[in-house]
Amino acid sequence: MADSDVLTTLKILIIGESGVGKSSLLLRFTDDTFDPEQSATIGVDFKVKTITVEGNCTKLAIWDTAGQERFRTLTPSYYRGAQGVILVYDVTNRNTFAKLDMWLNELDTYSTKTDIVKMLVGNKIDKEKREVSREEGLNFARRHTMLFIEASAKTKDGVQCAFEELVQKIIQTPGLWEM
Ligand code: GDP
Ligand code: MG
Repeated sequence: MADSDVLTTLKILIIGESGVGKSSLLLRFTDDTFDPEQSATIGVDFKVKTITVEGNCTKLAIWDTAGQERFRTLTPSYYRGAQGVILVYDVTNRNTFAKLDMWLNELDTYSTKTDIVKMLVGNKIDKEKREVSREEGLNFARRHTMLFIEASAKTKDGVQCAFEELVQKIIQTPGLWEM
């Protein structure tokens, strides 16, 4: 039997400012590796990973930006049909936190599903330096009805949880899961 016969495929996006660690989070999640020299130019287009959440075997097609976010906007086709989005900022760089509103606006403009599930991820918590507190991240997420987690692509903290909680919420959302 082909995969498509048994698995529901979900489209997940990773968005946020350039350099916050989107590609690193994706690589950590799919390949369990971290490359400190991660170059913006070798960003992947998308990766596929199958996970089981609460007994539901789910195939995730996770879309990375391949560096396009440097132009501060992504194409409408990037957003089309996505059930979940991971919005990333860098806890050591306040500017990336300040840009979250811009990314949410773009998401609202282009998302074709109004009930798309959103996960806010504060990345790079392994670093000594910090410019955005956990409370600030949590408050932002609450204000915008998002899930929230702090993470480190370098140490793995929170990475698996971020994807699993997102998928769990999608499964619980009628109209997103059963199509
Ligand atoms: P992107 O532009 O959002 O895809 O960001 P990248 O994944 O290319 O990461 C940008 C830089 O931050 C790279 O040098 C990564 O090695 C580094 N980086 C990403 N995640 C982490 C993290 O959790 N901790 C630390 N210390 N560095 C990270
Ligand atoms: Mg990247």
